[in-house]
Amino acid sequence: VKETFSRIEATDEQLEAFLTLNEEKSLEMAKELDAKGPSSDKPLAGIPIGIKDNIVTKDLLTTAASKMLYNFNPPYDATVMTNLYGANMIPVGKLNMDEFAMGSSTETSYFKKTKNAWSDKKVPGGSSGGSAASVAAGQIPASLGTDTGGSIRQPASYNGIVGMKPTYGRVSRFGLIAFASSLDQIGPMTRNVEDNAMILNAISGHDVHDGTSAKKEVPDFTSMIGQSMKGMKIGVPKEFMTEGVNPEVRKSIEEAIETYRELGAAVEEVSLPHSQYGVQVYYIMASSEASSNLQRFDGIRYGYRTENISNLEDVYVNSRSEGFGEEVKRRIMLGTFSLSAGFYDAYFKKAGQVRTLIVEDFKKVFKDYDLILGPVSPTIAHDFGTDKDNPVTAYMRDILTIPVNLAGLPGISLPCGFSEGMPVGLQLIGNYFEEEKIYQAASAFE
Ligand code: GLN
Repeated sequence: VKETFSRIEATDEQLEAFLTLNEEKSLEMAKELDAKGPSSDKPLAGIPIGIKDNIVTKDLLTTAASKMLYNFNPPYDATVMTNLYGANMIPVGKLNMDEFAMGSSTETSYFKKTKNAWSDKKVPGGSSGGSAASVAAGQIPASLGTDTGGSIRQPASYNGIVGMKPTYGRVSRFGLIAFASSLDQIGPMTRNVEDNAMILNAISGHDVHDGTSAKKEVPDFTSMIGQSMKGMKIGVPKEFMTEGVNPEVRKSIEEAIETYRELGAAVEEVSLPHSQYGVQVYYIMASSEASSNLQRFDGIRYGYRTENISNLEDVYVNSRSEGFGEEVKRRIMLGTFSLSAGFYDAYFKKAGQVRTLIVEDFKKVFKDYDLILGPVSPTIAHDFGTDKDNPVTAYMRDILTIPVNLAGLPGISLPCGFSEGMPVGLQLIGNYFEEEKIYQAASAFE
């Protein structure tokens, strides 16, 4: 733990991954564990982990990278935190992200610009950019991220690490600052597959505090690691390998397909015809849910309150106008618009119908295949500022990750090559609650 803090001190001025450090408490915990001696039933004991800053941590600043929560010290721990403490892991600090997890580059953070671990000209991806860059730069062995439309997998891919978005309901959302409740899921980000599976072991399970958490037994996610790929059937959606995907990225994915064939898997082309509408569906649904979830930030209950007050309305309007950044306001406006009486049928309702078609496409493929394979992102990490004046360009980057969230399926990002010196990510998508199979295939590739 000491080494972790000295590594962070030596590198974070440049990387800017951390928002808050938990040094004193971490060293105290480590000392206590040292005194107790090694424990055979807690393989993760004493291992440092970083936490995305939208996961609430008792008495440790939790900002969601927003001015709105610049001074928020939560009175309780998220369930994932309680679980990590149960495994005796040591949460060393809170990691930078896009404000309220809205973005794909971590540039919408109110506080700082995290760099990609491979190049300080490139974004780390997002919204879990701090969680990815920190692990890739060797500051910490593992972190937690959150994924609503790709925010674990895409930054994992941009930084060359392993990032897992579990099945919706696998991991409790209690204490995760809600963005889009029907899509949000917490997951591990690590440098290798086995570490990832071990952390998912620690954070998974039913939770009475989250009504959407699944009453499913939690298997040992490492149990199939090392097993042969013979007999495994993998589908590659033709919609994931189009001209819109950078040719070098496509080449890396084709090489990965070859590797799987050599390992004994059958790899065939499949189709997810409605996935092309995923981005449109997602930005309507996620923004609608966000506009509702973010109503609680009213200048009274949490965080930032304006000083500019002459009546009650000013408290709400000015606190929100001053406390939220541009992207968050754009989502709230999009969301309230698509939920409003005159437009609900044409937008929110229609989006829900198309979402069902996207889900059905996946179900059909999983009748015949064990896994779906494709790129995580159509491109490698881009330069800072690229999307500044064009939010829609940024939204289109999520085209290959969003369908997985809309369907609630598990998906992983794995490093599979390089283009222009930057990492490329391979995505493996599994059927509901079949994370072990994903880890099996991921480790075979590794
Ligand atoms: N990039 C997507 C968005 O901006 C995904 C975010 C996420 O998964 N949290 O909404």
